Parts: sequence; structure tokens; C-alpha cells
Amino acid sequence: MEEITIHEIDFALINEFFTELERQGPGSAEETVRALSFIGNISNKTKIADLGCGTGFQTMVLAQNTEATITALDLFAGSIDKLNAKAERHGLQDRVKGIVGSMDDLQFGDEEFDIIWSEGAIGNIGFEKGLAHWKRFLKKDGYVAVTYESWFTDDRPAEIEKWWTEAVPEISTIAHNISIMQKTGYIPVAAFVLPETCWTDNYFIPQKARQEEFLKKHPGNKTAENMVEFLRREAELYSKYKQFYGYVFYIAQKIGNWGNWDL
Ligand code: SAH
Repeated sequence: MEEITIHEIDFALINEFFTELERQGPGSAEETVRALSFIGNISNKTKIADLGCGTGFQTMVLAQNTEATITALDLFAGSIDKLNAKAERHGLQDRVKGIVGSMDDLQFGDEEFDIIWSEGAIGNIGFEKGLAHWKRFLKKDGYVAVTYESWFTDDRPAEIEKWWTEAVPEISTIAHNISIMQKTGYIPVAAFVLPETCWTDNYFIPQKARQEEFLKKHPGNKTAENMVEFLRREAELYSKYKQFYGYVFYIAQKIGNWGNWDL
């Protein structure tokens, strides 16, 4: 049987499925706070961009654990509407603003942000491409903090290698990703693996009921059926091969101006 790839699934349908869930990718509030702990001097003057924010689970965690002002950006307008409504419900609308845009074509000013955040989204435009493009929007010595799918070992079984390479062609090891951070102009600060519960409790398990509901809502819709099959396969492969890959939080600092050294 031919495997279904993520690229054959409709963007609007993926978003219709996921925006009803609390999160659209693996992660947790605890791990967002842990990543924040590597970044110093956050105050009410700090400006954060949260790219590929989805409906804003991690955006609210950032807002509730800092006094920073946050601009959250996503390509999907439905997610941004939800995020802005959520900010209002939490009384955070003065510090949290969702906008529609693409993270590979940011319209911000140079050096506008102290921190660029992105959970479970950079793979959509590419790890290296994203880091290289985002750098100019960061202040000197600003930070980037992203989660990204990564291999834990140099080699892994062909079945899982094939599946992930199809979904995220650039997927690589932690060591290689750290070298990309250095290559694109950042000093690596920390890298840590997200615990399994970020996938199971916060990503796969909440999807189960939604999958049933979604299939009922779209009877006979082949695209919807393929999508659910793809997601079930993703969960099945994770439980089989989780020792070979996971999400990793990467935190790095933009290399500042060190003077006029001839290198
Ligand atoms: N950060 C959220 C959502 C992760 S899902 C969470 O962890 O729960 C990935 C998100 O990236 C989706 O909301 C999708 O709409 C968004 N996305 C995909 N391509 C994008 C692009 N080019 N620019 C901005 N957002 C994009």
C-alpha cells in the first residue's frame, strides 16, 4: 500500500482539524517555561515574535510567564482569530497581538525583536532557511528558541527514516542542527529533548476523539480520511520508533557586533 504524505493533505483541512485542539504540535507549558529559563533579562520592554503560533497555546504561556509584548504570527487566519479571542479572554490583549503572515516573508523592521519563538513550525519553511531569514529581525544579542523534529542517532530503521524524510526533508541530528545554528550566525545556548508526554498526552491522545468527530463531519471525503489515516500512522510510528527521534528545543543567541576583527 502506498503511504500518504503530508504534502497531499489540504492546508485548510489540516487547520480545520487542528484548530479545535489546544495545541497543533507536540509540546507543553513546562517545556516552554524551561526554554524561557535560558534567556536572561526579560522585562516589560521585551518584544517577542511567536512564529507559526497556531491558536496560541505557547503564546499564552509566554505572556503569563513574562511581562513581554508578543506578536504572534501564523499563515492561517482562523488560528489567529482564535488566538486573539483567547488573549482577550485572559485580559492579555494589550500585550498579545495575533497577525496573519508567512514566516518566510516577515514584514517586521530590522532588529525589532528581543526574542523569536517558534514551536513545531520551522520545519514548514526549513530550519536553516528560517534561522537565516529571522536573524535580521532580532536585536543584537537577541535570542531564538525553536522546537524541531530531530534524529537522536546517526542511523535508524529504514521505515522511520523514509517516513520523516518525506514529511520534513531536512530532518537531521541534534549535533547537525546545532552546527546550522552556528553557521547561520547564532551562538548555541541550549538544546533539550521534549519528554514523551509532550507527544502522547498533549498531541496524540487529544487527537483521538477529534479524529472520530472529523470523520463523521466529512463522510466520504477522501482527503479527510487520508488525513486521519496519516495522523494515526504518525502516532503508531512514534510509539514504535520513539527512541530514534523526537522534538528538540533549540535556544541560541544572535552573534552581536564584536568589533572590527579581521577573520
Ligand atoms: N506553535 C503551535 C502550532 C504548531 S503547528 C503549537 O505548537 O501548538 C504549525 C503552525 O505553523 C500551523 O499553525 C500552521 O498554520 C503554521 N504555518 C505553516 N506554514 C507557515 C508559514 N509559512 N508561515 C507562518 N505559519 C505557518
